[in-house]
Amino acid sequence: MLPPAVMQRAQSEMIDWQGRGVSVMEVSHRDKPFMAVAAKAEADLRELMAIPNNYKVLFLAGGGRSQFTAVPLNLLKEGEQADYLITGQWSKAAYEEAKRFRDVAIAGEIDMSQKPISLPTDIKVRDGAKYLHYCPNETVDGIEMFEEPNVAVPLVADMSSCILSRQIDVSKYGLIYAGAQKNIGPSGLVVVIVRDDLLRDDLVVPCIWDYTKQAEQGSMLNTPPTYSWYLAGLVFEWLKEVGGVAAMEAHNAAKAELLYGAIDSIGLYQNLVAPSCRSRMNVVWQLKDESLNEAFLAEAEALGLMALKGHRFVGGMRASMYNAMPLEGTQALVTFMADFAKRHG
Ligand SMILES: *Cc1c(COP(=O)(O)O)cnc(C)c1O
Repeated sequence: MLPPAVMQRAQSEMIDWQGRGVSVMEVSHRDKPFMAVAAKAEADLRELMAIPNNYKVLFLAGGGRSQFTAVPLNLLKEGEQADYLITGQWSKAAYEEAKRFRDVAIAGEIDMSQKPISLPTDIKVRDGAKYLHYCPNETVDGIEMFEEPNVAVPLVADMSSCILSRQIDVSKYGLIYAGAQKNIGPSGLVVVIVRDDLLRDDLVVPCIWDYTKQAEQGSMLNTPPTYSWYLAGLVFEWLKEVGGVAAMEAHNAAKAELLYGAIDSIGLYQNLVAPSCRSRMNVVWQLKDESLNEAFLAEAEALGLMALKGHRFVGGMRASMYNAMPLEGTQALVTFMADFAKRHG
């Protein structure tokens, strides 16, 4: 979900942007008006996340998954090593992709058969490892890691589904990337935040995903996804207006508390993730009687409560409550869940 105010603004500017008689999609990315949009979006993101000056911010095409390949190719020469922490589907997928190109190993892996599901505590990074990759919020599994792993190598984090949802200290990371479609804007765009000292020029990387080249060119080595960049900028402006990341953090914590409270207190439902690592963005739960799944989804949809079916890999239910989801949405869901339980319990 994107903020309705942003969608309305984009709509109003669609065919006549800044009184120019054209859409932002129709201007050159190298002309001043678009360059200003690009610069403002970057400045606003830097402000929202308090990104230090020794980090580059890139706006690239390819979405979140493109970085599963780009990260190892940009940070590792052939023969160099990196380690991956596996806490769910997405960090596993990042590891599998990196393994196709470079020497990567598993630094720790979550055991989903242990209930409640808890994060691995024993993280072992190899001596020669150049970075540790992890995924702070596992979108599919509903597992969130609120503390950074405590290791001596640079952290690389896939923040696709938690960027801008809570405050983080960017200086604790070597590299952060995030596909845009959860908390930033349209799919296909990916934001990469990379510390200067990790940029290399001794590697062979596909040029459009070469961090060093793209940093030199202001992410305009190729034509960037301009409309997505523009929309991301509108979302950043909106975020600043509504109080920034601190306000979002409180808003997201309130939604999550409400929904987990309902799951834990209504006997029909269960969530098997330990409370300390329950995701605020993606809440998963099961109906203890799975034969009620179809009825639950159909009744919810009839009330306008959409997209509650869990990911096909894990089943059950999932509510994704990204920044733009209002508290009223969660309240409506919780009211329905209680009502459904009364009728089917
Ligand atoms: C959605 C998601 C991705 C994949 O993003 P695409 O843009 O579809 O490639 C990767 N990582 C995480 C954590 C995600 O939530």
